[in-house]
Amino acid sequence: MVAIDGIGMTSRRTRLRLIQRLREAGIRDEKVLAVMEEMPRHIFLDEALAHRAYEDTALPIGYSQTLSQPYIVARMTEVLVASAPSKVLEIGTGSGYQTSILARLCDEVYSVERIKALQDKARERLHLLKLRNVMLRLADDTVGWPERGPYNGIIVTAAPRVVPPELLEQLADGGIMVIPVGEERQMLVKITREGDRFHQEDIEPVRFVPLLGGVVR
Ligand code: SAH
Repeated sequence: MVAIDGIGMTSRRTRLRLIQRLREAGIRDEKVLAVMEEMPRHIFLDEALAHRAYEDTALPIGYSQTLSQPYIVARMTEVLVASAPSKVLEIGTGSGYQTSILARLCDEVYSVERIKALQDKARERLHLLKLRNVMLRLADDTVGWPERGPYNGIIVTAAPRVVPPELLEQLADGGIMVIPVGEERQMLVKITREGDRFHQEDIEPVRFVPLLGGVVR
């Protein structure tokens, strides 16, 4: 069970401190900052870690997976929503935190996860937050969700060694993909589609869990 509680004054203050930190780190998009200020990150964590929710740090969510550092979530979201994408695909629902932020900024969010237990918890949190514009899918051997594509924006929160070609195919013309790529040393890149051409731009070095195949039920 997850519950929205403990959003008292203390929590409000620590949340504002986090937003201040994101600003200092260079996050400029006011809509992204406003949504992150309102989003209760502590409900995406187990109780034992909830008190650390507003630190700018990645935290474990079980199954060897992590909830990304707020700065990285903000950065990826800022790059993705710059073109105001209406329909977005997320790979790696995880806790559902990034999903929830996208749900507040985009019309439709499609999110894929390969670990059923994580998806179940994420669904519960989305329900609690009354976010009804999110569709969840349990991953199979296909990467992404081609049946519902193409998407104006794609965000990948686990790192493949190379950009999966099937994901490029799910990107709409003019769309933007934000994805970490590499093994030991990963680079967060922004890919823009123009017709059948893809422009790639480095954002910054990052560390993500690997993008894996197969479902964990
Ligand atoms: N965005 C998440 C971060 C979760 S970590 C959050 O805010 O909490 C990355 C997630 O990607 C993990 O939950 C992992 O299980 C998932 N993942 C890894 N490979 C995947 C794949 N091929 N398809 C879907 N999800 C995948």
